[in-house]
Amino acid sequence: MPSQRQLFLAHLAQTTDFPMMVDIERAEGIYLYGPDGKKYIDLISGIGVSALGHRHPSVTNAVKEQVDRYMHVMVYGEFVQTPQVQLAKYLTEHLPDNLDNVFLVNSGSEAAEGALKLAKRYTGRPNILYAHNAYHGSTHGALAVGGGEHFKAPFRPLMPGVYPVRYGVMEDIELINNATAAIILETVQGEAGVVVAKKDYWKAIRNRCDETGTLLILDEIQSGIGRTGKLWAFEHFDIVPDILITAKGLGGGMPIGAFISSLEIMKVLRNDPILGHISTFGGHPVSSAAALATVKTVIEEGLVDKVADKAKLFSTKLKHPLIKGLRQMGFMMALQFDSFETTKAVVDRCTETGIITDWFLFCDNALRIAPPLIITESEVEEACDTLINAINWVYERQR
Ligand code: PMP
Repeated sequence: MPSQRQLFLAHLAQTTDFPMMVDIERAEGIYLYGPDGKKYIDLISGIGVSALGHRHPSVTNAVKEQVDRYMHVMVYGEFVQTPQVQLAKYLTEHLPDNLDNVFLVNSGSEAAEGALKLAKRYTGRPNILYAHNAYHGSTHGALAVGGGEHFKAPFRPLMPGVYPVRYGVMEDIELINNATAAIILETVQGEAGVVVAKKDYWKAIRNRCDETGTLLILDEIQSGIGRTGKLWAFEHFDIVPDILITAKGLGGGMPIGAFISSLEIMKVLRNDPILGHISTFGGHPVSSAAALATVKTVIEEGLVDKVADKAKLFSTKLKHPLIKGLRQMGFMMALQFDSFETTKAVVDRCTETGIITDWFLFCDNALRIAPPLIITESEVEEACDTLINAINWVYERQR
């Protein structure tokens, strides 16, 4: 009888030649458990997803209740489905006034695709600007506005009319002009290794977009749902996007995404052509019920306000000669080492000793820390102690 691991390698399409191959039997809170009883701290939330940790009762109850009522009944946008309606209502109540209309999709990439189409259709303009080292997804359009020629070249031709700018660089803001439909930016760059731009930059971006009639699309797929210590990271910079995209943490472990804008902008997807953007499963009722429970719990339990103090505890505890720095915006953290080799050795040792972490798509010499928002102070201490032990283990062997 082949093992699960052999079947995994034989029949599931692989994305690298070196998958993590961690066997998971169940998950609870910040912990994952293997079939052999091995326990791991999930220090990356399944890559920015499990804001409430795993199997939070508010989410599992919402899922169970919805499964007992109905699952898929109709493609997105036709039937009045209460979980979708309530989710959209709740989200818009916790967003600035102009973000009052929600298009539900299934993933982050789809949210990016929808936002790009919406901007082109609304402005009637051909061009999109995007940032170096950006990540907005793996589909053709989202990949076209992502950084990293290495990841793009083999798949060309991608979407035309896209032009890169340097993230956080004032001079490049001038590249936004009257032919620019939108500029798409992550409010905090995730896969670049947690890169934060200054408030002045964001003010200047907002002003230039207003001057030229360009839409500002902010990608909060990683930075949203409280991860940076505000519900949305743009709140740190006193700016508001024209289109906001969210996914990952939104669903509390269920797949869902959204692009959110004003009714005035969103209206253009209804005519010329009708059905300007459609989706069969977008806003699946079970995912929508899970998302509503997730966002409500994050807000009502005050989890967002507790991020800053717990994030500070990470920065206080994570001190070691091998650590070259910590880039941090709340619970988006990049622990910098000297090389990929050191980072990989630490990540591997972490897996052996019970911590799940990894590095970033465009920054392979830093370790990702993005814990569930529900992590307690004592769990932060436990995670940091295990992490420092792993770092020290690598350090001893390098000497
Ligand atoms: N935008 C950002 C900032 C992301 O981090 C990701 C996923 N890593 C995406 C978009 C794409 O999301 P998905 O994988 O759900 O398509």
